[in-house]
Amino acid sequence: MSQAPSRETLDRLDTGVTELSAFHDGDRPGWTREVFSEPYRASRDWTAARMRDAGLEVHVDAAGNIVGRLPGTEQSAPALVTGSHTDTVDGGGRFDGIVGVLGSIEAARLLQESGTRLRRDLVVVDFLGEESNVFGLSCLGSRSAAQELTSADLDRRDYRGVTLGQAYADYGLEPSRLLDVPWAKRPLHAFVELHIEQGPTLEKRGLPLGVVTAITGIERFVATFAGAADHAGTTSMDDRRDAMVAAAEAVLAVRSEGCGAPTHGVATSTRVESESRSPNVVPSLVRMYSEVRSVDPAWLSGVKGRLTAEIAAKAAALGVDVGFEWSTDNAVVQAAPGVQDVAGAAVDALGLPWMPIPSGATHDAVHMADLAPMGMIFIPSKGGKSHCPEEWSSTADIATGVDALVGTLRRLDALDSRPS
Ligand SMILES: [Zn+2]
Repeated sequence: MSQAPSRETLDRLDTGVTELSAFHDGDRPGWTREVFSEPYRASRDWTAARMRDAGLEVHVDAAGNIVGRLPGTEQSAPALVTGSHTDTVDGGGRFDGIVGVLGSIEAARLLQESGTRLRRDLVVVDFLGEESNVFGLSCLGSRSAAQELTSADLDRRDYRGVTLGQAYADYGLEPSRLLDVPWAKRPLHAFVELHIEQGPTLEKRGLPLGVVTAITGIERFVATFAGAADHAGTTSMDDRRDAMVAAAEAVLAVRSEGCGAPTHGVATSTRVESESRSPNVVPSLVRMYSEVRSVDPAWLSGVKGRLTAEIAAKAAALGVDVGFEWSTDNAVVQAAPGVQDVAGAAVDALGLPWMPIPSGATHDAVHMADLAPMGMIFIPSKGGKSHCPEEWSSTADIATGVDALVGTLRRLDALDSRPS
């Protein structure tokens, strides 16, 4: 059954969050610590020191991930991996990712303090740069570990024209080594990530823990509406081919798909741009940017067809032509059923209630799923807030997440073969 966390665990988690959040960009709002920034670089020395202090053997791999190893008793047994990230979005909070890194370090410490020696190596990772950045690419460290970073990715440029490869080099990492990081050459037993929910479900239901079922797929599109430029004072309403009105209809169509999703499904239009600069001209060219997310691949592919048809029909009724550019940002990634079962059993053994929960945000776990059976454990986020300064999870809730992680790691360690 669950025991109250020790005073030491609560203190270590609490001071960890406080000390890590002191590394932030004072010129930006919130607790900004973006990848490659000076506050980020400084914070990672702190994180490495924290790992060493917890008894881990620490190195930084070629991808810039901080890797701490707690040796197991069986040198040849595939390793267990846990971890998350410590970078933030611009204007971000103190818990997204950080809970998974501090929680993993605490889990390694608790295993040692309890006199437990796992059979397998326990590998604790602070993945480089998980959040999307000025290069438009998220999960840099886990992407490299899974050998999914490409040379085309390294050629991506930020708004100043600097390439991602150059940013890596400036940070002290060798770009040519990023495409062949030796993680994939080592068999792994399983990967588990502890994370804040970043949504309101657990808090609303009064549950301390969630076991993730799947991580959302994301389909994005840009729709370009082409109508006709006409005088806004003299052209009658019936004679117009107004691209802005067609885009407005499309925004509502996107919203109604999200509202009608059967399971987890959301749909968002993030930007509408008009080429018209004049206040007295009917807009003739408008671009709209939208995304749809779901853990249901069938719904996700169905929504693409429905939205394309509906938006085109509504635009045609307005005399407006429309073209679409769809792109897949992420396919749906299922958590391994075997890891979900183990995590659920570990939480049951603590005597705590939990729910299976989909993740509407992406995580390093998406890429680690290509290297090992993957699972995630969620703790509540106050008010469901995330990626903002108000993001908050209580130290007691983080400690409960650590307990669930320790139980999950022990049970996974005991399995002779990889969880399915
Ligand atoms: Zn995160």
